[in-house]
Amino acid sequence: MAKIKMNTPIVEMDGDEMTRILWKMIKDNLLEPYVELNTEYYDLGLEHRNETNDQITIDSANATKKYKVAVKCATITPNAARMEEYNLKEMWKSPNGTIRAILDGTVFRAPIIVKGIEPNVRSWKKPITIARHAYGDVYKASEMKIPAAGKAELVYTAEDGTETRELIHDFKGAGIIQGMHNICGSIESFARSCFNYALDTKQDLWFASKDTISKKYDHTFKDIFQDIFDAEYKEKFKEAGIVYFYTLIDDAVARVMKSEGGYIWACKNYDGDVMSDMVSSAFGSLAMMTSVLVSPEGFYEYEAAHGTVQRHYYKHLKGEETSTNSVATIFAWTGALRKRGELDGNKELMEFADRLEKATIDTIEAGEMTKDLALITSIENPTVLNSEGFIKAIATRL
Ligand code: NAP
Ligand code: MG
Repeated sequence: MAKIKMNTPIVEMDGDEMTRILWKMIKDNLLEPYVELNTEYYDLGLEHRNETNDQITIDSANATKKYKVAVKCATITPNAARMEEYNLKEMWKSPNGTIRAILDGTVFRAPIIVKGIEPNVRSWKKPITIARHAYGDVYKASEMKIPAAGKAELVYTAEDGTETRELIHDFKGAGIIQGMHNICGSIESFARSCFNYALDTKQDLWFASKDTISKKYDHTFKDIFQDIFDAEYKEKFKEAGIVYFYTLIDDAVARVMKSEGGYIWACKNYDGDVMSDMVSSAFGSLAMMTSVLVSPEGFYEYEAAHGTVQRHYYKHLKGEETSTNSVATIFAWTGALRKRGELDGNKELMEFADRLEKATIDTIEAGEMTKDLALITSIENPTVLNSEGFIKAIATRL
C-alpha cells in the first residue's frame, strides 16, 4: 500500500517521561506504516529545554504560527524536585503557558466517548466541550488582608493623572479584599476562538457568567461576546445550522446536567478550571480527554489533557510492565492530521485520522484496554493490555 503523503508539515513537539515513550510507540506502530509523516520536529523534553534555555519552546510556538497545526506530547513543568532531578539551570516556565501566551489561544477540552465507559450523568450521550478563557480574573489578582477598621477603595489613575475611585468597603474590623482584572482584547480573542471552534466542529455554543450580580465585570464579557457574534458570526452560524446563546451560570449548570451533550460550553477562567474537572471526571477519565489550543488567527495545537504519567515512567525505567492509556495522545495526533488534511484539501489524510480513531474506539469496545479503563468499564471480563500491547491491538484493527 502506498503511504499517504503530506504536502505541508505539522509541528511536532516531543515531550517527557511515559508520554514520550508512548509518543514513539504511536509513531512506529500507528502512523509511520501508513503516512509519510511530514513534521518539523521540536524536542520539548526537559533536558533539551534546559540546554536551549527554553528557546526551543518559543521556536516551536513560532513554527506553529507558520504551519498553523501542531501536535504536542505532555511535558514536565518543573518544580523544586525537578530542578534537582534534572540539574536545571532555571525553573523553566510551563511550556503550555509559554505556547499559549505566544498563540493567544483558548483551550478546548472534550471527552472521548466509548461504549462501556459510561458517564456518571445518565442523560449525557455526546461529549461536552469546555472552552476555558485562560487569562486573568482570580489567576492574576492582587489580594490584601485587612487587619482592622478602615476604608478600602478601587483606584484607577489615567495616564493624565486623573483618578477614579470606587468604595469597596468601609471596614469596621478585620477582613479581606481582592482586586482582579481582565483585558478587552483578551476577551475578544476568547470570543472569536469560541465562535470559530463552534463553526469548525458544528456544535452549538453556550456562554454563561454572573452578569446579574457583576454588572460591569461579567457584563462586559457578555456584551463583547454578543457584539462580536452579531457583527461577524450571526450569518455563519445560521448557515451552519448552529446557535449561540448566553445564559446565567446557574441556569447553564442546571441545563448541562439535564442535557444530552454535544455542545461547547464557554467558561470564564475560574468557571472553566472547576467545570472542566467536573465534566472530565463525570465522563470517566483524564486519559480519555482531548485538548486543543485554538488561536483567534486560526492556529491549532493538539495535545492530551493529562500529564507525563511520572509514576508509570519510573516503573518503566525499572523494567516493570506498564499499562498506560495512549488514547488521548493518539487523538492528539489524529486531531492534528485531520486539521492538516482539512487545510490542505488532503482527503486521504483526513480519512486516515477517522480510521485510526475508529480502530482505537473499536479496540476498547471489543474489551481490549489499559488498566485504568478496565477498572471503570461496564464491559465484563475485559482484557487488560500493557502500554505496547494496547497500541499493537489498535494496529491490528487498523
Ligand atoms: P499525570 O501525568 O496526569 O498523572 C497523574 C495520575 O493519573 C497518574 O499517576 C495515573 O494514575 C493517572 N493517569 C494520568 N494519565 C494517565 C494515562 N494516560 N494512563 C493511565 N493513567 C493515567 O499528572 P502528574 O503525575 O501530576 O504530573 C506528572 C507531570 O506531568 C508533572 O511534571 C506535570 O508538570 C506534568 N503535566 C503536564 C501537562 C501537559 O503537558 N499538558 C499537564 C499536566 C501535568 P496511577 O498512577 O494511579 O495509575
Ligand atoms: Mg483544575
